[in-house]
Amino acid sequence: MSRPILATAVAILLSAVAVPALPAQQQSRPLDPANLDTTCSACQDFFTYANGGWVKRTEIPGDQAAWSSFHELQDANFRALKAVLEDAARTAASTRDADQRKLGTFYANCMDSAAVERAGLAPLADELGRIAAVRSGKDAQRVLARLALHQVPAGFAFYSTPDARRSERTIAEISQSGLGLPDRDYYLKTDSSSVALREQYRIHVARMLQLSGDDSAAAARAADRVLALETVLAQASMSQEAQRDPEAVYHLTSLPDLGRQTPHLDWPLWFRELGVPAPAEINVSQPGFLAAVDSLLGTLPAEDWRHYLRWQLLNAAAPTLPSAFVNQNFQFNGTALQGIREQRPRWKRCLQLTDNLMGELLGQAYVRRHFSPEAKARALEMVRNIQAELRHRLGTLTWMGEETRARAYRKLDAMVNRIGYPDRWRSYAGLEVKREPLAASARRASAFEGRWDLGKIGKPTDRGQWNMSAPTVNASYNTSRNAITFPAGILQPPFFDPGADDAVNYGGMGGVIGHEITHGFDDAGRKFDDRGNLSGWWDSTDNRAFAERAEVMVRQAGGYVAVDTLTVNGKLTLGENIADLGGVLIAYGAYRRSLAGKPEPTPIDGLTGDQRFFLGWAQIWRGRFRPEFARMLVTVDPHAPNAFRANGPLANMPEFARAFGCKAGDPMVRDERVRVQIW
Ligand SMILES: [Zn+2]
Repeated sequence: MSRPILATAVAILLSAVAVPALPAQQQSRPLDPANLDTTCSACQDFFTYANGGWVKRTEIPGDQAAWSSFHELQDANFRALKAVLEDAARTAASTRDADQRKLGTFYANCMDSAAVERAGLAPLADELGRIAAVRSGKDAQRVLARLALHQVPAGFAFYSTPDARRSERTIAEISQSGLGLPDRDYYLKTDSSSVALREQYRIHVARMLQLSGDDSAAAARAADRVLALETVLAQASMSQEAQRDPEAVYHLTSLPDLGRQTPHLDWPLWFRELGVPAPAEINVSQPGFLAAVDSLLGTLPAEDWRHYLRWQLLNAAAPTLPSAFVNQNFQFNGTALQGIREQRPRWKRCLQLTDNLMGELLGQAYVRRHFSPEAKARALEMVRNIQAELRHRLGTLTWMGEETRARAYRKLDAMVNRIGYPDRWRSYAGLEVKREPLAASARRASAFEGRWDLGKIGKPTDRGQWNMSAPTVNASYNTSRNAITFPAGILQPPFFDPGADDAVNYGGMGGVIGHEITHGFDDAGRKFDDRGNLSGWWDSTDNRAFAERAEVMVRQAGGYVAVDTLTVNGKLTLGENIADLGGVLIAYGAYRRSLAGKPEPTPIDGLTGDQRFFLGWAQIWRGRFRPEFARMLVTVDPHAPNAFRANGPLANMPEFARAFGCKAGDPMVRDERVRVQIW
């Protein structure tokens, strides 16, 4: 399990714009006064005070669902990566560097839209043929396995992961999946906008099936069946918030037991199709969900499986297919779901696809050009200072008993810091990339990914392996590896600015570092010990004290309106909100400690060091979101909306109130009785 600072799904959706923007490196001032709105009091709404100027003058680009500091940085990264890929594509035919050739050839295949149009659905013909031949639940299962190998999680997802209770070994895991909409709630909610969106989805599925050869009446009937099947899967799915409990999704099951629980699933057949040896045990994250799939395999007419499997294949492959598919896919997933108006230019989509399918190849080329050992050293120093501060704070907590505290120290000391890029890059030696239509090339790459992932089952866990590519603008904490990850892509302004005063860097990157470290101790992360094993290392009194304090946070977030009348789900966002509060607190402490023995920093632009620290935090959350996208995030994203991420933690900090002269009763000052105090 990995906890990024932004939802991974969102990070994938994040992409760049066509409008010219200054590369981040050229932004002249670490805190631009023009970004502020000083007509709003810092004590009323700090997000608006800090970012109101930026919000007023910033338009969300037409090809984006949102625009934020993360997007600005990703835009700059995309420009850098474009140059990397264009060079690779230009020299692909002549270079002796096999990695460069693969990267360049894949990107060239993607950019060759004429070849994509000419090929049509030919690259999927074999798979479509297998689907058309499905006559039984067993046939359907055979196709499900092939889709799983290509990382299309139809029916359920099957992959490798460290065993939550014995993280030194990697096991197979099965999770609920198989929906075409972002979450089970989209199928189950009965309010008028949910009903309308489902209707749009039904039409979308029908159009995709029509594009693949059905007449319109057949496509409409098939779409009805797809929606019916997916609704059954949605009904059997666990809610997002229920899945946050790591114990609720841990059911290590022996293969014979699994066979008994799922009589319609032929597991020997499954593993034969995947080409991996059958493991002795599998973690079934949601046994109730798998039972529902099993029962469908026993009862659903083969025709329904054919519709569903064809839809799942087309849906997953859509970005690699001719423009009719790409446009239809965009109309629903871009416009209807997220409010995006225009398609991103082809090179950005190709860049994203290359990053998704061969991230460590692209990452190597990126860091060679764009990441310096100095940046790594400075970031690492900041990480160590912030870890030292958390160690100090753990020592002062009055609610934590000595035994739990000793174990918390041990966990903090064992935490692995991963900065910039992996120590050891993955090998792509077995990946064949040649000039061919994109969909064929993408299938080869996804099967390579699938085999690589499944090949880890039964092996010792590789603790050095990353879950984000180096150019990614994001950061994460990995519970099983007890590791924090800061890719090169995020170690730039406005998060980390070598030219900025410490206050701004501690508020920005320091807060993010503190956030990731705190995930090791949030409502879910705290259940894993120093080795990354799910275990009850907390004393029961401490457990209770933590839960009581966390409950105050659930209520704070739950009182915040995200969009329209939708409020933040305090339980779903609990871990992230704890991490945000812990992150700022620790970063602030580390900042103050860095000043020990030095004079208070001279104000810059009339702002004191402490004020600049808090502005450094708030400015990384500057952003605007389309309402459609904001609504989607409330349902699927464990992160609260940006304005809450800026304001929520600070309203719990007397240090913030002091820095800006805020008084009791101000909206940015929470009364002591409802103030969240955990770390
Ligand atoms: Zn996080």
